[in-house]
Amino acid sequence: MAMPHLTSAVLDHVADAVARGVSPLVVLDLDGTLYDNAPRTLRIIQEFAAAHGARYPDLYEVVTTLAPSAMRYKIADTLAAAGVDDPAIHREIEAFWFARFFTNEYVLYDLPLAGAAEFVNLIHRAGAVPTYLTGRDAPNMLQGTIAALQRDGFPVGPMNTRTILKHDFETPDEDYKRAVVTHLRPSGEVVAAFDNEPGLCNLLKQSFPDSVTVWLDTSHAPGAPALAEGVARIRRFTELLPTD
Ligand SMILES: [Mg+2]
Repeated sequence: MAMPHLTSAVLDHVADAVARGVSPLVVLDLDGTLYDNAPRTLRIIQEFAAAHGARYPDLYEVVTTLAPSAMRYKIADTLAAAGVDDPAIHREIEAFWFARFFTNEYVLYDLPLAGAAEFVNLIHRAGAVPTYLTGRDAPNMLQGTIAALQRDGFPVGPMNTRTILKHDFETPDEDYKRAVVTHLRPSGEVVAAFDNEPGLCNLLKQSFPDSVTVWLDTSHAPGAPALAEGVARIRRFTELLPTD
């Protein structure tokens, strides 16, 4: 069984920390890293069309033909690409989306990226402590986040896992993750980190230079900085699974 070199590197770091009696933390972002949010956004757009069929009779037929892969970073871009050009409809759908996207109920529409759960279980069995570090906020999204992780087969709940959400909605993700990074130091050793935002990968690599830091090249916010030296890149977790 052949182990991809990045996975071997993570497992080596884990084994080394375990041998020294230190908790090997593997920081895992959720949105765009372990999870694909496109099905969540698509569902919300389709619900809007279903609920407003009388006012926008053509919209439902348009958006029910869309695939999750048609979702752009911005709703307006998704709609424009599908031929829906009216800025007033864009604004209305964006407001409908905003009221639903960041909630326990709708987070359940996400799908894990292929191979993500297998990879996290593989390193967890080897002694790693999966440390889910997300910009989702606990007041609105904790229950749905836990339910989805458990449903999708990720290790979550026991003492050798951690789940860290923001205490409020307003704090910017990067400020929050920067604060958490400081907090993590005394409680273990960050041996690996995975994120889809280049800026957050850079922060993690800078904070933990010896860690295996991996950028998930899925989707990210516009205007991202260049990736720092030493950050690896993958497109999907299946690249990290052992092959026969
Ligand atoms: Mg993310």
